[in-house]
Amino acid sequence: MIKPLARLLALISIGFTISANAEKFEKDWHTYSNYTDVVSTHVVLDLDINFETKQLKGSIEHHLEYKHKGVQTLILDTRDLDIHKVEAFRAGVWSDTSFKLAERDDVKGSKLTIVLPRMTKRVKVHYNSRPEASGLQWLSPVQTAGKKLPFMFSQSQAIHARSWLPIQDTPAMRVSYEAKIHTAKNLRPIMSAKNDPKWNENGDYYFEMPQPIPTYLIAIAAGNIHYKKMSKQTAIYSEPELLDAAAAEFEDTQAMIDATEKMYGKYRWTDYDLLILPPSFPFGGMENPRLSFITPTVIAGDKSLVSLIAHELAHSWSGNLVTNATWRDLWLNEGFTSYVENRIMEEVFGKDRAVMEQALAYQGLKEELVDLPKADTILHVVIEGRDPDDAFSGVPYTKGQLFLMFLEERFGRDVFDSFLKQYFDDHAFGSIDTRSFTKYIKTNLIDKHSGKVSMAEVKEWITEPMLPANSPRPTSDVFTKVKTHMSSWLSNDTKLSKVPTKNWTVHEWLFFINNLPKDISLKRLNQLDTQFNLTQSTNNEIAHAWLLLNIKRNNPVINTRLADYMITIGRRKLIVPLYKALLETESKRSFTQEIYNKARPGYHPLAQGTIDALFVAKK
Ligand SMILES: [Zn+2]
Repeated sequence: MIKPLARLLALISIGFTISANAEKFEKDWHTYSNYTDVVSTHVVLDLDINFETKQLKGSIEHHLEYKHKGVQTLILDTRDLDIHKVEAFRAGVWSDTSFKLAERDDVKGSKLTIVLPRMTKRVKVHYNSRPEASGLQWLSPVQTAGKKLPFMFSQSQAIHARSWLPIQDTPAMRVSYEAKIHTAKNLRPIMSAKNDPKWNENGDYYFEMPQPIPTYLIAIAAGNIHYKKMSKQTAIYSEPELLDAAAAEFEDTQAMIDATEKMYGKYRWTDYDLLILPPSFPFGGMENPRLSFITPTVIAGDKSLVSLIAHELAHSWSGNLVTNATWRDLWLNEGFTSYVENRIMEEVFGKDRAVMEQALAYQGLKEELVDLPKADTILHVVIEGRDPDDAFSGVPYTKGQLFLMFLEERFGRDVFDSFLKQYFDDHAFGSIDTRSFTKYIKTNLIDKHSGKVSMAEVKEWITEPMLPANSPRPTSDVFTKVKTHMSSWLSNDTKLSKVPTKNWTVHEWLFFINNLPKDISLKRLNQLDTQFNLTQSTNNEIAHAWLLLNIKRNNPVINTRLADYMITIGRRKLIVPLYKALLETESKRSFTQEIYNKARPGYHPLAQGTIDALFVAKK
């Protein structure tokens, strides 16, 4: 139920303008919705979570705002939904209105066209999602940490919200929401909204997200989810088995918020909680507002992988507050976020660590650029006709970050920081596309401080493939030392036992493993393993780098550990490169297939899709 006055006040206090000039943006190719005619500004969900049938079932009510007169239809995005009926609210009553669900398109799903009687202000769609919904994963008890109860969660980015919500699924528009969610009494739902830490005995929950967000940030999860407060603004939600470890690992989250506020202005989402998911979560994290979804693979015991939290938190400014208007503009989300993430890491963990993380990311990008089609190395990438998930390479992230580092270098940190803070303020609770950004940076940075950077340089960064010649090339002094020790061992000048690894951080280990010669002998690999027990490393990033190298060198010693790793982890970044490397060698195909047969049922539909495609490509 909506409280009109409270909602109105909330909207005034956060000071946003509804549907900030959608017309000025490039058309979002990935939506069918007619958001330039009529905008759904608020939705009310009423959904049952059914673990038996793996379905969400109920209704979504849209509150509409018309952009001009004479609009007769509302067009929503859907994918694999069963639509039961649609009602319109007129003269105080709900009555049926007609609708048409179009044929399914492989990328965009099915267009749902609803007839609007006399510009009605409210429309309600009764529907259910299907078990195969691309944006939902249903886990059986054995796939959870506790092994006793099932778990489900959503992943709506990029265009998967439509697989569980009939909605205008475009990041050009924003919507606030409230939700009544019903579930079994022994399972607790949670959403990217205000969450009450209390467990409800009757299984009925109410959520409210008063701030308008793009639809890809609407999120839900349910399971044996418990709560532990960490600080005034932060808490962990997770299965009880992971609660303490997660709270210890991520105890610096409040310090990260404080550091970011100092640089870029107020955190505008009240609380910042973390939901720790089971290991099959296909991503590192998902920046769902107020409640980031986090992979448990970063709980390393030594905070070595917490840059992921800095990243998801940074999205509270870049992405969630200022959003890419279309999926072509993803770099405006991820490039800015990668840059802000690294600045947070520098503030909280010091310069050495921040620079090591830059250097590792830069090295990773350079390797990726070799394999990517040239057109996909452009920041303002063309993705018409393709699934926007294809745009998620290192390009929007690390190339975007390098562009911002380049600007920081040229203008100086003070000037660039105040530009960025102003940018977040000027576009808060709105969307922006690459064209509008180019205009904005020209007026507010380039022209204001003339002689530092030309618009030709800006355009080269944004519209040309690969890295410009003037790109920053982050290098770390700490890594230079690691390299010296490595060379000395490889040329037999130093014994392995004399390499001073005792105080190496995870970053130094990653650099070391990633920079070993591509043709390193099995003898040397096994020597390293005997000395440092790398195959059994409990750090998932180190294990990943080590396993990958050994696959490439055909070292069978790792096979048992490799199978175990790939079956228990579903995070795409960690497993997809392993499958790719395995499938490079024809003789390993049946071994790989055997692992995949066991692992696949535990993977998210997105991970399954990516890996299925690898097997087909290598046939
Ligand atoms: Zn991100």
